[in-house]
Amino acid sequence: MSFSRLRNIETLSNLLRSVLLLSPEDLLCCVYLCLNQLGPAYLGMELGVGETVLMKAVAQATGRQLDKIKAEAQEKGDLGLVAESSRSNQRTMFQPASLTAGGVFRKLKEIASMSGNSAMNKKIDIIKGLFVACRFSEARYIVRSLAGKLRIGLAEQSVLSALSQAVCLTPPGQGFPPAVIDAGKGMSTESRRAWIEEKSLILKQTYCEMPNYDALIPVLLKEGIDQLPNHCKLTPGVPLRPMLAHPTKGVGEVMKKFDEAAFTCEYKYDGERAQIHILESGEVRIFSRNQEDNTSKYPDIISRIPKVKKDSVVSCVLDSEAVAWDREKKQIQPFQVLTTRKRKDVDAAEIKVQVCVYAFDLLYLNGESLVRQPLSRRRALLRESFSEVEGEFVFARSIDSDNTDTIAEFLEQSVRDSCEGLMVKTLEKDATYEIAKRSHNWLKLKKDYLEGVGDTVDLCVIGAYLGKGKRTGTYGGFLLACYDEENEEFQSVCKVCVCTVKHSLFAPRAYYRFDQSAEPDVWLDAVQVWEVKCADLSLSPVYKAAMGMADPEKGISLRFPRFLRIRDDKNPEDATTGAQVRPIRRTGRSY
Ligand code: ATP
Repeated sequence: MSFSRLRNIETLSNLLRSVLLLSPEDLLCCVYLCLNQLGPAYLGMELGVGETVLMKAVAQATGRQLDKIKAEAQEKGDLGLVAESSRSNQRTMFQPASLTAGGVFRKLKEIASMSGNSAMNKKIDIIKGLFVACRFSEARYIVRSLAGKLRIGLAEQSVLSALSQAVCLTPPGQGFPPAVIDAGKGMSTESRRAWIEEKSLILKQTYCEMPNYDALIPVLLKEGIDQLPNHCKLTPGVPLRPMLAHPTKGVGEVMKKFDEAAFTCEYKYDGERAQIHILESGEVRIFSRNQEDNTSKYPDIISRIPKVKKDSVVSCVLDSEAVAWDREKKQIQPFQVLTTRKRKDVDAAEIKVQVCVYAFDLLYLNGESLVRQPLSRRRALLRESFSEVEGEFVFARSIDSDNTDTIAEFLEQSVRDSCEGLMVKTLEKDATYEIAKRSHNWLKLKKDYLEGVGDTVDLCVIGAYLGKGKRTGTYGGFLLACYDEENEEFQSVCKVCVCTVKHSLFAPRAYYRFDQSAEPDVWLDAVQVWEVKCADLSLSPVYKAAMGMADPEKGISLRFPRFLRIRDDKNPEDATTGAQVRPIRRTGRSY
């Protein structure tokens, strides 16, 4: 962990410790305000305030003209700064009461809950009210918060670390004056760190299974961190974070990584992750890789559940891949076909793109979480609890072999069967589904390695170059960036030529890292992620990815990048990180 990240965590934990002592009832809203969220991410609560509305509110509250605000925001690339400087020009006769964390959070929730005809004006009124009460630099952060771009260097994992550190050092529920302000006093630096890390893992793992602070924080306050797993458990209906995979360069590397451990190889299907929850009530919910509710996208999957589930199953959580399926030819269709399917409120009678569900894991069954069970057990329960129906619901094809030739053959076969390659997973040792411990427990072996090119990366589009010659009037190329979690910034990594995207800006965002020599003609908001295939990497003084990691001055650049597809299922912050780009190399047939 970098020094700046540790310092941010320390600072936030100190703030939270003060909150714990002085105003514990505000802990929940402080955590949400830091995360710029209104509630659990999976509920998708939105403020519903666009940039124009926000500018209107700023203009009305400061008495400045809308045009001026707009022009300044475009010039500075940050409406927060404009709001802050506009405020200081303004004099009010009566200074309204100071803002409080609880008060601001309640107002934000109120804004989110408004709908209907006059909602926009009411929202503007609330924003104006907040704005007028701002002091110092509060306006900057309130406006950034409303614009959904807080960027204070605290991603979710950092907030979880800070929260656990705070409750360790300053135990909640002490009353005032507190008996213990620093429970780590007297410990050596090393044992203090180990102790906090151990507790932090409890919080992080519980959060993976119950990603809802409304449920976690009251338990933290009342029962303490050790009791969290007994009160906040995996629950059908609440999506959990999915296990992801590490790229590997070939069968040889797999064998080396897994050493003596027993493992299985499964087909890596090229569709969309579907976490299927069957609730005790019989209701079925389906969540995406990013915990979005995809239930209304898949009425066809839902209607087939009673047919494939055995009677013994009352409630469960399944992990699976939904893949486009050609019913006539009885074969898998490419991922691109799946993307043509409607995303919401699908009418079962009008479905043109059929899907087959390939189930590969069972995370919960009849009231019990299985995440601490090894994959061998989870897979056995999965196979016992469901029956296959061709083209509708089948178990992911797999072989349990440690023979290099057999695995290489299975990899080739997976590609012939329209899959991306293989997923390799341990069966017994280190084979639980505890994401906080190892968020990448699985290895992926993709067909790209057969073709002798490196892996694909997912990059965010941040700028465009105007076309010349035949391409005049359109964009001739785009500037792509990877994401840096530590600094919460997008770092330029290469240029690529393809079709167009929207969301243009007039100035780069403060969190774009680029070199002037590759400055695009048009800046774009970091909203879209593209999957790009590259042949190799090079060190470059022009690009900023992974700056300081491979070379103190130079960044990493991708060579011969080629656009493959838009990744709608990824947020900009899910883009490949600089640290992930670094190990990618031209691989060749390495098995
Ligand atoms: P990318 O595909 O661009 O690398 P990603 O992070 O979404 O990005 P991977 O890490 O490559 O995906 O692979 C994991 C994904 O593969 C899972 O999220 C799941 O959707 C899909 N998948 C297909 N078959 C399987 C399988 N048998 N086991 C686990 N995941 C599978």
